[in-house]
Amino acid sequence: MCDDHPSTVSRRAALGLLGTSLAAGLGACTVPGNPSAESPTAAPRTEGASPSASASATMSSTPSPTASAPAKKHFDPDFTLPPIQGGLAPVITKIPTKQPVVFLTIDDGQVKSPESVRLLSETGYPATLFLTSNTVRDNPAFFKAFMAQGSLVENHTVSHNVNMTTQWSYQRQLDDIVGMQDFALQQYGRKPTLFRPPGGAYSTAMRQAVAAAGLKAIITWEAKANAGRMDYQYGNSLRPGDIVLMHFRPEFAADFEAFRSAQVAAGLEVVLLEEFLGVV
Ligand SMILES: [Zn+2]
Repeated sequence: MCDDHPSTVSRRAALGLLGTSLAAGLGACTVPGNPSAESPTAAPRTEGASPSASASATMSSTPSPTASAPAKKHFDPDFTLPPIQGGLAPVITKIPTKQPVVFLTIDDGQVKSPESVRLLSETGYPATLFLTSNTVRDNPAFFKAFMAQGSLVENHTVSHNVNMTTQWSYQRQLDDIVGMQDFALQQYGRKPTLFRPPGGAYSTAMRQAVAAAGLKAIITWEAKANAGRMDYQYGNSLRPGDIVLMHFRPEFAADFEAFRSAQVAAGLEVVLLEEFLGVV
């Protein structure tokens, strides 16, 4: 549903680099028996979740979140999120950083497959989940399994109107954004800090509404995993600081593999966007 953003399609993606050992790439972020590699600032990110947030009741077939996930490196952020200025939330399309990091964002929430939980669990990748409450309302608890692995739920509106900036008044936009803030707090025990516009289109009024709703930034993207391949708006590979878009769709596994291949080929680590921005 977020595919109307213009992009330069490159099918070369990382396919030419798949010869790079995936195992080597994963091994690079594995530091067994070396607790010093864990940053003392890497506090648990699920402390805001309510005690009842355990997904075990509904996800009993899901493997243990930490069973096979490799240990993570910590990267000191070298980018500071611009503050709200003039009542307008900043818009971030890519993080300007020299750190070898990439950020995974997964949108909407339509397809709720145990396979998606398993893939993120096995890799240990944290993701920023831009959920739409009308899309996840049938089973919001499904996404708690991702939170248990270090992912966070963020705001992708209540109704996913891709024309909201042109069709709706400021107040109507604000209501649709605040509705998801309230839903997320109720379901997941945390108020989102980041906002993704449905379809990617934003306006001054939307930036104002996002700030008024208490959110810190609008997050768009310049790379996406789509239809089982990577699409880049610039170049033909992932760059440090790229924000990657994908969706909870039937082709989740193929999209995720396209992302992971590109990420490993580029020598980047997947880190949580909120952690890097200091908006956990
Ligand atoms: Zn969307």
